[in-house]
Amino acid sequence: MNMRLIDFHCHLDLYPDYATAFADCQRQSIYTLAVTTTPRAWARNMELASATEFVRPALGLHPQIVAERADELALWDKYLPYAQYVGEVGIDAGPHFFRSLELQKKVFEHILRTCSEHGGKCLSVHSVRATRLVLDMIERCLRPDRGRIVLHWFTGSQSEAKRAVDLGCYFSVNLAMMQTDRSRGVVSRLPLDRILTETDGPFIKMDGRPSRPADVARVVEILAHSRGLEAQTMASTIHTNLRSLLSRSSDAERLFG
Ligand code: MN
Repeated sequence: MNMRLIDFHCHLDLYPDYATAFADCQRQSIYTLAVTTTPRAWARNMELASATEFVRPALGLHPQIVAERADELALWDKYLPYAQYVGEVGIDAGPHFFRSLELQKKVFEHILRTCSEHGGKCLSVHSVRATRLVLDMIERCLRPDRGRIVLHWFTGSQSEAKRAVDLGCYFSVNLAMMQTDRSRGVVSRLPLDRILTETDGPFIKMDGRPSRPADVARVVEILAHSRGLEAQTMASTIHTNLRSLLSRSSDAERLFG
């Protein structure tokens, strides 16, 4: 079966063979959002992605390393005009990162406000144990007509999902989200027209090894099964969703002609 796959959140630059990881996306025609964890990683990702037709680099400052890297915000400001995509950004209020929560909030607010000023950005957002906070901040700092939000690895409740949908958010769904009953239940009620797929490789494992973009095929199959659809139909729905997500961006022309 030949499906057009979309991996909307993958850390291609964190694979030991990262140049191959970029080249694989191109060879396999997988539209991949190459998220980064620090502004310092941007230039290299931009360079590797520009040699492909299918990989898009995202400018990021991961909430889990904000404590060490907040001083890279100057670089953030420098590169943002060149980045159409932003990620990985957001808030992590889990026990390991709770200490930096106040700093994370300052940094994420800066990110949202600068994206709002520039306009036209598409953001892949992390929200571990902070769904309500992240949605509050999006509502307050990023005007809906100034940027699009994709919630990566959403772990919020049913009512938070509803609120996110009302705020215009999309959701990139990964394999780990399909492995607990609670999360599967939330995913099963997301509007079909707001769903994208992701691997979050190399962090999420599949069959005991770090997952790679081609593994989104498995997510597509599980999503399709849960909705009583053919995998092919699910894949083309996700493709349509990407198209509508990017409808007002300059990338739409390049991708969809
Ligand atoms: Mn990630």
